[in-house]
Amino acid sequence: MLPAQLAAALKDLGEPAYRAKQVFKWLSAPVGGFDEMTNLPRALREKLKESFTLYAPTVEQKRVSALDGTVKYLWRLRDGGHVESVVMRYEYGNTVCVSSEVGCPMGCAFCASTIGGKVRNLAASEILDQVIYSQADSGLKISNIVLMGIGEPLDNFDNVVRFLRLVNDPDGMNIGMRHISLSTCGIVEKIDKLARLGLQLTLSVSLHAPDDETRSKIMPVNRACGVDPLLSACGRYFERTGRRISFEYAMIRDVNDTPRHARLLAEKLAGTGAHVNLIPLNEVPESGLRPSTPEAMRSFIGILERNNINVTVRRRLGPDIEASCGQLRREREKK
Ligand code: SAH
Repeated sequence: MLPAQLAAALKDLGEPAYRAKQVFKWLSAPVGGFDEMTNLPRALREKLKESFTLYAPTVEQKRVSALDGTVKYLWRLRDGGHVESVVMRYEYGNTVCVSSEVGCPMGCAFCASTIGGKVRNLAASEILDQVIYSQADSGLKISNIVLMGIGEPLDNFDNVVRFLRLVNDPDGMNIGMRHISLSTCGIVEKIDKLARLGLQLTLSVSLHAPDDETRSKIMPVNRACGVDPLLSACGRYFERTGRRISFEYAMIRDVNDTPRHARLLAEKLAGTGAHVNLIPLNEVPESGLRPSTPEAMRSFIGILERNNINVTVRRRLGPDIEASCGQLRREREKK
Protein backbone atom coordinates (compact mmCIF):
# COMPACT_ATOMS: atom_id res chain seq x y z
CA MET A 1 0.00 0.00 0.00
CA LEU A 2 1.07 3.54 -0.74
CA PRO A 3 1.25 5.80 2.35
CA ALA A 4 -2.11 7.44 1.61
CA GLN A 5 -3.83 4.06 1.26
CA LEU A 6 -2.27 2.81 4.45
CA ALA A 7 -3.42 5.95 6.25
CA ALA A 8 -6.98 5.36 5.03
CA ALA A 9 -6.89 1.69 6.07
CA LEU A 10 -5.64 2.53 9.56
CA LYS A 11 -8.19 5.30 9.89
CA ASP A 12 -10.85 2.65 9.22
CA LEU A 13 -9.39 0.72 12.14
CA GLY A 14 -9.78 3.84 14.30
CA GLU A 15 -6.06 4.64 14.43
CA PRO A 16 -4.43 8.09 14.37
CA ALA A 17 -2.56 9.22 11.23
CA TYR A 18 0.95 8.89 12.69
CA ARG A 19 0.50 5.13 13.05
CA ALA A 20 0.37 4.83 9.27
CA LYS A 21 3.86 6.29 9.03
CA GLN A 22 5.16 3.83 11.63
CA VAL A 23 3.62 0.86 9.84
CA PHE A 24 4.86 2.08 6.46
CA LYS A 25 8.41 2.23 7.81
CA TRP A 26 8.12 -1.33 9.08
CA LEU A 27 6.89 -2.50 5.70
CA SER A 28 10.14 -1.27 4.15
CA ALA A 29 12.15 -3.39 6.59
CA PRO A 30 12.65 -7.17 6.67
CA VAL A 31 9.94 -7.99 9.24
CA GLY A 32 8.44 -11.47 9.24
CA GLY A 33 5.33 -10.64 11.28
CA PHE A 34 3.32 -7.89 12.98
CA ASP A 35 4.71 -8.87 16.40
CA GLU A 36 8.09 -7.58 15.29
CA MET A 37 6.62 -4.07 14.94
CA THR A 38 7.64 -3.33 18.48
CA ASN A 39 6.79 0.38 18.60
CA LEU A 40 3.10 -0.38 17.96
CA PRO A 41 0.73 -1.07 20.86
CA ARG A 42 -0.10 -4.75 21.27
CA ALA A 43 -3.80 -4.09 20.58
CA LEU A 44 -2.96 -2.54 17.20
CA ARG A 45 -0.70 -5.44 16.29
CA GLU A 46 -3.60 -7.80 17.00
CA LYS A 47 -5.95 -5.70 14.85
CA LEU A 48 -3.43 -5.70 12.02
CA LYS A 49 -3.10 -9.49 12.25
CA GLU A 50 -6.86 -9.84 11.87
CA SER A 51 -7.11 -7.53 8.88
CA PHE A 52 -3.88 -8.10 6.93
CA THR A 53 -1.35 -10.76 6.01
CA LEU A 54 2.39 -10.22 5.80
CA TYR A 55 4.35 -12.25 3.29
CA ALA A 56 8.08 -12.56 2.87
CA PRO A 57 9.98 -14.40 0.12
CA THR A 58 12.28 -17.22 1.17
CA VAL A 59 15.76 -17.90 -0.20
CA GLU A 60 15.50 -21.00 -2.39
CA GLN A 61 19.09 -20.67 -3.58
CA LYS A 62 21.91 -18.23 -2.98
CA ARG A 63 25.22 -18.05 -4.82
CA VAL A 64 28.13 -15.76 -4.12
CA SER A 65 30.74 -15.15 -6.83
CA ALA A 66 34.27 -15.96 -5.71
CA LEU A 67 35.54 -13.62 -8.42
CA ASP A 68 33.75 -10.34 -7.73
CA GLY A 69 31.42 -10.80 -4.73
CA THR A 70 28.24 -10.67 -6.82
CA VAL A 71 25.37 -12.30 -4.91
CA LYS A 72 22.56 -14.05 -6.72
CA TYR A 73 19.24 -15.03 -5.15
CA LEU A 74 16.56 -17.38 -6.34
CA TRP A 75 13.49 -16.44 -4.30
CA ARG A 76 10.52 -18.66 -3.61
CA LEU A 77 7.26 -16.69 -3.57
CA ARG A 78 4.15 -17.44 -1.56
CA ASP A 79 2.49 -19.39 -4.40
CA GLY A 80 5.62 -21.45 -5.12
CA GLY A 81 6.75 -19.33 -8.09
CA HIS A 82 10.38 -18.27 -8.41
CA VAL A 83 12.18 -15.08 -9.38
CA GLU A 84 15.79 -13.95 -9.26
CA SER A 85 17.65 -10.90 -7.98
CA VAL A 86 21.35 -10.06 -8.22
CA VAL A 87 23.38 -7.78 -5.96
CA MET A 88 26.36 -6.25 -7.78
CA ARG A 89 29.14 -4.33 -6.07
CA TYR A 90 30.34 -1.26 -7.91
CA GLU A 91 32.68 1.49 -6.76
CA TYR A 92 29.80 3.96 -6.65
CA GLY A 93 27.63 1.67 -4.52
CA ASN A 94 25.75 -1.60 -4.47
CA THR A 95 23.15 -2.21 -7.14
CA VAL A 96 20.35 -4.75 -7.02
CA CYS A 97 18.84 -6.11 -10.22
CA VAL A 98 15.21 -7.11 -9.60
CA SER A 99 12.58 -9.12 -11.49
CA SER A 100 9.17 -7.70 -12.39
CA GLU A 101 7.25 -10.82 -13.47
CA VAL A 102 7.34 -14.58 -12.97
CA GLY A 103 8.56 -15.59 -16.43
CA CYS A 104 8.13 -13.23 -19.38
CA PRO A 105 5.68 -13.03 -22.30
CA MET A 106 7.93 -11.19 -24.76
CA GLY A 107 9.65 -14.15 -26.46
CA CYS A 108 13.09 -12.65 -27.23
CA ALA A 109 15.12 -15.35 -28.99
CA PHE A 110 18.28 -14.96 -26.88
CA CYS A 111 16.71 -14.74 -23.42
CA ALA A 112 16.42 -17.47 -20.77
CA SER A 113 13.63 -15.74 -18.84
CA THR A 114 11.02 -16.11 -21.55
CA ILE A 115 11.46 -19.79 -22.38
CA GLY A 116 8.46 -21.00 -20.34
CA GLY A 117 6.38 -17.88 -21.10
CA LYS A 118 4.82 -15.63 -18.47
CA VAL A 119 3.29 -17.12 -15.32
CA ARG A 120 2.06 -13.94 -13.62
CA ASN A 121 2.75 -10.34 -12.69
CA LEU A 122 4.64 -9.64 -9.49
CA ALA A 123 2.82 -7.48 -6.94
CA ALA A 124 4.52 -4.18 -6.10
CA SER A 125 5.33 -5.65 -2.67
CA GLU A 126 7.04 -8.65 -4.26
CA ILE A 127 9.33 -6.35 -6.25
CA LEU A 128 10.01 -4.22 -3.17
CA ASP A 129 10.73 -7.35 -1.09
CA GLN A 130 13.55 -8.26 -3.48
CA VAL A 131 15.28 -4.99 -2.56
CA ILE A 132 14.55 -5.27 1.16
CA TYR A 133 15.56 -8.92 1.52
CA SER A 134 18.58 -8.76 -0.81
CA GLN A 135 19.93 -5.95 1.36
CA ALA A 136 19.08 -7.72 4.62
CA ASP A 137 20.48 -11.11 3.65
CA SER A 138 23.63 -9.89 1.89
CA GLY A 139 24.40 -7.19 4.44
CA LEU A 140 25.18 -4.91 1.50
CA LYS A 141 23.49 -1.52 1.64
CA ILE A 142 21.63 -1.01 -1.63
CA SER A 143 21.92 2.40 -3.25
CA ASN A 144 20.90 1.65 -6.84
CA ILE A 145 18.23 -0.45 -8.51
CA VAL A 146 17.95 -1.81 -12.02
CA LEU A 147 14.70 -3.36 -13.25
CA MET A 148 16.55 -5.76 -15.52
CA GLY A 149 15.75 -9.14 -14.04
CA ILE A 150 13.08 -11.61 -15.15
CA GLY A 151 10.03 -10.10 -16.87
CA GLU A 152 9.07 -7.04 -18.87
CA PRO A 153 8.51 -4.14 -16.44
CA LEU A 154 6.24 -2.17 -18.79
CA ASP A 155 4.01 -5.24 -19.28
CA ASN A 156 3.34 -5.03 -15.51
CA PHE A 157 3.03 -1.25 -15.64
CA ASP A 158 0.82 -0.36 -12.66
CA ASN A 159 2.57 -2.61 -10.16
CA VAL A 160 6.00 -1.47 -11.34
CA VAL A 161 5.06 2.22 -10.98
CA ARG A 162 3.64 1.51 -7.54
CA PHE A 163 6.92 -0.22 -6.63
CA LEU A 164 8.86 2.84 -7.83
CA ARG A 165 6.80 5.10 -5.58
CA LEU A 166 7.18 2.76 -2.60
CA VAL A 167 10.94 2.33 -2.87
CA ASN A 168 11.39 6.07 -3.52
CA ASP A 169 9.36 7.20 -0.49
CA PRO A 170 11.39 9.10 2.14
CA ASP A 171 9.77 6.99 4.89
CA GLY A 172 10.57 3.82 2.96
CA MET A 173 13.88 2.80 1.41
CA ASN A 174 14.27 6.35 0.10
CA ILE A 175 16.12 5.39 -3.07
CA GLY A 176 16.16 8.33 -5.48
CA MET A 177 14.61 7.94 -8.94
CA ARG A 178 17.93 8.95 -10.46
CA HIS A 179 19.40 5.83 -8.86
CA ILE A 180 16.88 3.59 -10.61
CA SER A 181 17.01 2.23 -14.18
CA LEU A 182 14.13 0.52 -15.91
CA SER A 183 14.89 -1.69 -18.90
CA THR A 184 12.24 -2.42 -21.52
CA CYS A 185 12.10 -4.39 -24.75
CA GLY A 186 10.31 -1.33 -26.18
CA ILE A 187 6.52 -1.31 -25.81
CA VAL A 188 5.87 2.03 -27.47
CA GLU A 189 2.54 3.09 -25.92
CA LYS A 190 3.86 2.22 -22.45
CA ILE A 191 7.00 4.30 -23.00
CA ASP A 192 4.70 7.27 -23.72
CA LYS A 193 2.62 6.44 -20.65
CA LEU A 194 5.77 6.36 -18.52
CA ALA A 195 6.99 9.63 -20.04
CA ARG A 196 3.75 11.32 -18.97
CA LEU A 197 4.53 10.45 -15.33
CA GLY A 198 7.71 12.54 -15.64
CA LEU A 199 9.74 10.35 -13.27
CA GLN A 200 13.48 11.02 -13.14
CA LEU A 201 14.51 7.40 -13.61
CA THR A 202 16.81 6.18 -16.38
CA LEU A 203 15.11 4.39 -19.23
CA SER A 204 17.13 1.63 -20.88
CA VAL A 205 15.78 0.28 -24.13
CA SER A 206 16.77 -3.16 -25.39
CA LEU A 207 17.35 -2.26 -29.01
CA HIS A 208 19.61 -5.12 -30.15
CA ALA A 209 19.24 -4.21 -33.86
CA PRO A 210 18.92 -1.01 -35.92
CA ASP A 211 16.66 -2.44 -38.66
CA ASP A 212 13.26 -4.15 -38.64
CA GLU A 213 14.36 -7.26 -40.48
CA THR A 214 17.02 -8.16 -37.90
CA ARG A 215 15.09 -6.95 -34.87
CA SER A 216 11.87 -8.78 -35.75
CA LYS A 217 13.84 -12.03 -36.06
CA ILE A 218 15.12 -11.87 -32.49
CA MET A 219 12.44 -9.75 -30.77
CA PRO A 220 8.78 -10.52 -31.56
CA VAL A 221 7.71 -7.19 -30.00
CA ASN A 222 9.24 -5.49 -33.05
CA ARG A 223 6.67 -7.07 -35.40
CA ALA A 224 3.93 -4.98 -33.74
CA CYS A 225 5.96 -1.80 -33.63
CA GLY A 226 9.17 -1.29 -35.57
CA VAL A 227 12.52 0.37 -34.87
CA ASP A 228 11.64 3.85 -36.17
CA PRO A 229 8.42 4.28 -34.14
CA LEU A 230 10.35 2.98 -31.10
CA LEU A 231 13.13 5.53 -31.60
CA SER A 232 10.52 8.28 -32.00
CA ALA A 233 8.97 7.27 -28.67
CA CYS A 234 12.45 7.43 -27.12
CA GLY A 235 12.80 10.97 -28.50
CA ARG A 236 9.47 11.95 -26.95
CA TYR A 237 10.57 10.41 -23.64
CA PHE A 238 13.72 12.53 -23.66
CA GLU A 239 11.80 15.71 -24.53
CA ARG A 240 9.29 15.13 -21.77
CA THR A 241 11.65 14.05 -18.97
CA GLY A 242 15.01 15.52 -19.96
CA ARG A 243 16.53 12.09 -19.34
CA ARG A 244 18.71 10.61 -22.06
CA ILE A 245 17.98 7.05 -23.12
CA SER A 246 20.46 4.25 -22.74
CA PHE A 247 20.27 1.56 -25.46
CA GLU A 248 21.21 -2.04 -24.70
CA TYR A 249 22.66 -4.05 -27.55
CA ALA A 250 23.48 -7.75 -27.03
CA MET A 251 26.17 -8.75 -29.52
CA ILE A 252 25.06 -11.91 -31.34
CA ARG A 253 27.44 -13.54 -33.78
CA ASP A 254 26.52 -13.01 -37.45
CA VAL A 255 23.02 -11.84 -36.48
CA ASN A 256 23.32 -8.17 -35.43
CA ASP A 257 27.08 -7.57 -35.18
CA THR A 258 28.21 -6.75 -38.74
CA PRO A 259 29.71 -3.41 -39.88
CA ARG A 260 26.44 -2.77 -41.76
CA HIS A 261 24.51 -2.99 -38.46
CA ALA A 262 27.01 -0.71 -36.73
CA ARG A 263 26.80 1.94 -39.46
CA LEU A 264 23.00 1.90 -39.48
CA LEU A 265 22.89 2.09 -35.67
CA ALA A 266 25.21 5.10 -35.70
CA GLU A 267 23.07 6.75 -38.38
CA LYS A 268 19.83 6.23 -36.45
CA LEU A 269 21.21 7.46 -33.13
CA ALA A 270 23.19 10.41 -34.55
CA GLY A 271 22.57 13.62 -32.63
CA THR A 272 20.36 12.04 -29.95
CA GLY A 273 23.05 12.02 -27.25
CA ALA A 274 21.97 8.48 -26.48
CA HIS A 275 24.33 5.99 -24.94
CA VAL A 276 24.89 2.47 -26.30
CA ASN A 277 25.72 -0.31 -23.86
CA LEU A 278 27.02 -3.37 -25.69
CA ILE A 279 26.35 -6.63 -23.86
CA PRO A 280 28.48 -9.67 -24.66
CA LEU A 281 25.80 -12.33 -25.25
CA ASN A 282 25.36 -14.84 -22.45
CA GLU A 283 24.87 -18.19 -24.09
CA VAL A 284 21.48 -19.77 -23.52
CA PRO A 285 21.86 -23.27 -25.01
CA GLU A 286 18.18 -23.46 -26.07
CA SER A 287 18.59 -20.40 -28.31
CA GLY A 288 21.31 -21.71 -30.61
CA LEU A 289 22.75 -18.15 -30.69
CA ARG A 290 26.45 -17.46 -30.13
CA PRO A 291 28.31 -14.44 -28.74
CA SER A 292 30.15 -12.20 -31.19
CA THR A 293 33.87 -12.72 -31.67
CA PRO A 294 36.24 -10.20 -30.03
CA GLU A 295 37.18 -8.96 -33.52
CA ALA A 296 33.55 -8.29 -34.42
CA MET A 297 33.07 -6.46 -31.10
CA ARG A 298 36.15 -4.31 -31.73
CA SER A 299 35.15 -3.36 -35.22
CA PHE A 300 31.55 -2.58 -34.11
CA ILE A 301 32.80 -0.32 -31.32
CA GLY A 302 35.23 1.39 -33.72
CA ILE A 303 32.45 2.28 -36.16
CA LEU A 304 30.25 3.71 -33.39
CA GLU A 305 33.13 5.72 -31.92
CA ARG A 306 34.15 7.14 -35.28
CA ASN A 307 30.55 8.33 -35.63
CA ASN A 308 30.62 10.02 -32.21
CA ILE A 309 28.22 7.58 -30.54
CA ASN A 310 28.76 7.10 -26.83
CA VAL A 311 29.51 3.41 -26.36
CA THR A 312 30.50 1.18 -23.46
CA VAL A 313 30.77 -2.58 -23.04
CA ARG A 314 28.94 -4.10 -20.09
CA ARG A 315 31.33 -5.73 -17.67
CA ARG A 316 30.40 -9.30 -16.83
CA LEU A 317 29.82 -9.85 -13.12
CA GLY A 318 29.32 -13.20 -11.46
CA PRO A 319 30.23 -15.36 -14.48
CA ASP A 320 30.96 -18.26 -12.09
CA ILE A 321 27.46 -18.25 -10.54
CA GLU A 322 25.20 -17.93 -13.59
CA ALA A 323 24.34 -14.42 -12.47
CA SER A 324 22.61 -13.42 -15.70
CA CYS A 325 18.87 -13.10 -15.75
CA GLY A 326 16.70 -16.18 -15.85
CA GLN A 327 19.44 -18.79 -15.64
CA LEU A 328 18.83 -20.08 -12.11
CA ARG A 329 15.05 -20.11 -12.41
CA ARG A 330 15.38 -21.93 -15.74
CA GLU A 331 17.51 -24.63 -14.13
CA ARG A 332 15.04 -25.00 -11.28
CA GLU A 333 12.07 -25.32 -13.68
CA LYS A 334 13.89 -27.97 -15.72
CA LYS A 335 14.35 -30.08 -12.59
N1 SAH B 1 12.36 -7.16 -20.33
C1 SAH B 1 13.29 -6.10 -20.12
C2 SAH B 1 14.27 -6.31 -18.97
C3 SAH B 1 14.87 -7.67 -18.75
S1 SAH B 1 16.30 -8.25 -19.56
C4 SAH B 1 14.04 -5.82 -21.39
O1 SAH B 1 13.80 -6.51 -22.39
O2 SAH B 1 14.80 -4.87 -21.43
C5 SAH B 1 17.65 -7.19 -19.26
C6 SAH B 1 18.57 -7.08 -20.47
O3 SAH B 1 19.28 -8.31 -20.73
C7 SAH B 1 17.80 -6.77 -21.76
O4 SAH B 1 18.51 -5.82 -22.50
C8 SAH B 1 17.83 -8.11 -22.46
O5 SAH B 1 17.61 -7.97 -23.84
C9 SAH B 1 19.20 -8.63 -22.11
N2 SAH B 1 19.40 -10.06 -22.30
C10 SAH B 1 18.49 -11.06 -22.19
N3 SAH B 1 19.06 -12.25 -22.44
C11 SAH B 1 20.35 -12.01 -22.73
C12 SAH B 1 21.45 -12.84 -23.06
N4 SAH B 1 21.33 -14.16 -23.20
N5 SAH B 1 22.65 -12.24 -23.25
C13 SAH B 1 22.79 -10.91 -23.12
N6 SAH B 1 21.80 -10.08 -22.80
C14 SAH B 1 20.58 -10.62 -22.62
